[in-house]
Amino acid sequence: MNRSASESTEDHLERIAGLIEDKGYARVTDVAEALGVKPSTVSNMVRRLAVRGFVNYERYRGFSLTEEGREVAARIKARHQILTELFSLLELAPETVDQEVEEIEHHLRPQTLEIFRQMVNYWKSRPEELRAFLRFARKNA
Ligand code: CA
Repeated sequence: MNRSASESTEDHLERIAGLIEDKGYARVTDVAEALGVKPSTVSNMVRRLAVRGFVNYERYRGFSLTEEGREVAARIKARHQILTELFSLLELAPETVDQEVEEIEHHLRPQTLEIFRQMVNYWKSRPEELRAFLRFARKNA
């Protein structure tokens, strides 16, 4: 798979924030396992994230997110949630939702994400319109 550096950066940040949220800390081995990559890949990424001011990296003691790192990770997480919610509302299969979100999430401009967020809110508050749309989509598939 051909992935850009920024995609990988975002996935690492997202996963680190998730681990810290769940367990209180993130270790290279845990991030590597979660992302299905080699620990050396994660170590290199963590050093790059430290240079950019997103993580505090202490050799042998793991690492934590800086305030800026936490902010960026929160934006990445919110974006992931909006897309997951949208595709789930549209009744895509769960595994399709996960795959699509993982790939698309890195390529959206803020204004696109904003309109997706509005679609989620709109359909959640008007379930009968969502059902009508889904009927239309199935009929015309
Ligand atoms: Ca991703």
